[in-house]
Amino acid sequence: MSTIQALRGTKDILPTDIGYWQHLEATARQVLAQAAFQEIRTPIFEQTELFARGIGEATDVVGKEMYTFSDRGDRSITLRPEGTAGAVRSFIENKLYGAGGIQRLWYSGPMFRYERPQAGRQRQFHQIGAEVLGSADPRAEVEASAVAGNLLTAVGVKSLKLALNSVGDREDRQRYREKLVEYLTPYKDELDPDSKDRLTRNPLRILDAKVERTREICVDAPSILDVLSAASAESFETEKQGLTTMGIDNTLDNRLVRGLDYYTHTAFEIQSDDLGAQATVCGGGRYDGLVAELGGPETSAVGWAMGMERLILLLQAIQPLPEPSVDFYVVSRGDRAEIQALGVAQTLRQAGYSVEVDLSGSAFGKQFKRGDRAGAKACAILGDAEADNNTVQIKWLNSGEQTEVSQVELLETAKNFHTQNFNN
Ligand code: ATP
Ligand code: MG
Repeated sequence: MSTIQALRGTKDILPTDIGYWQHLEATARQVLAQAAFQEIRTPIFEQTELFARGIGEATDVVGKEMYTFSDRGDRSITLRPEGTAGAVRSFIENKLYGAGGIQRLWYSGPMFRYERPQAGRQRQFHQIGAEVLGSADPRAEVEASAVAGNLLTAVGVKSLKLALNSVGDREDRQRYREKLVEYLTPYKDELDPDSKDRLTRNPLRILDAKVERTREICVDAPSILDVLSAASAESFETEKQGLTTMGIDNTLDNRLVRGLDYYTHTAFEIQSDDLGAQATVCGGGRYDGLVAELGGPETSAVGWAMGMERLILLLQAIQPLPEPSVDFYVVSRGDRAEIQALGVAQTLRQAGYSVEVDLSGSAFGKQFKRGDRAGAKACAILGDAEADNNTVQIKWLNSGEQTEVSQVELLETAKNFHTQNFNN
């Protein structure tokens, strides 16, 4: 019979790598809590319409990357391709705006996009994201990007760049759109097919194209920063000042765009030179129109999302994982000793230690070798003599020192192990 393999674009995260994920997740939880963000967990599938409206029909994500299917009740359902739409749906549905003030939310989990798999690009991948809902103040952008920066620093990834742009407000963008189309139209036949198509549907996204000739054409395109209204320019200025004050280096990139109507003002990306073609680790910006677009009250908002796989690729290149280890490895031989060994393991765990029990039933020598490989600090040993006397031998592997302890007194005795043998 043929074996069954994981689907293309999906990956198992094996115990050999899980340490990176746990490190990233624990750090995220801590850094986001420090900045007063609260975690939200929304469903992995939603009505297709949420994403169609929330991300926009004109985007690649909705146009060609979604995992959409009919369920048994003939509803059109989509596996979430990103986290913002679900968070905003929940914000509206649960009236989180009713709490007044500003909501700072974060999430993490798997996302699904039907893309061509390559390094740093999968069909099931994972993101950590954060949203600040309810503030139009440019300081919200500074706070949001600062917390993203804090997370990346705390995780330990280096040499990242923050690229920044403003896409203005609705009117700025309308004005810019006209200028851009005017500039690009004479080059129409030289654009790649996707970009040609976008010329009428979503021209700002052409600036984001990956095709060489299209990029060349865009080099001399007008800059959106030149058409910003005085108010938009001022708000962008405040944000740049905020970033500088917080010591966050940034470069302007006037081709960085979010092509949808409800994206406003700031767009930013955090990139790394060490990731090849998939250089963007984090993308974010302000999306003042989205909450209203999805049926909620007018609510300003800003957020970002990070690709966890790409972060972990960076981490793997710079930080080896510590070898896994346990405090105690329990070896035993003989029917009664083998049963008592299970009780000994429970007692040691109760005292706060990590404990692995050898279940092989093989000779003592082999069990000791496995204890070594498990990185144990000590072995707890039970043979027939220990079983008769209700005792256990504790052998410290670094010193070779061995003591006999009564099983009845093990819990009390084990509490003192800390000072004796775990401090060196
Ligand atoms: P890209 O241009 O790389 O396709 P994107 O603009 O589609 O990125 P966003 O929707 O902004 O990406 O998602 C935020 C982050 O999530 C990206 O910067 C990236 O780190 C990560 N990401 C997006 N798609 C994938 C994927 N298919 N596999 C792994 N990570 C991804
Ligand atoms: Mg993409």
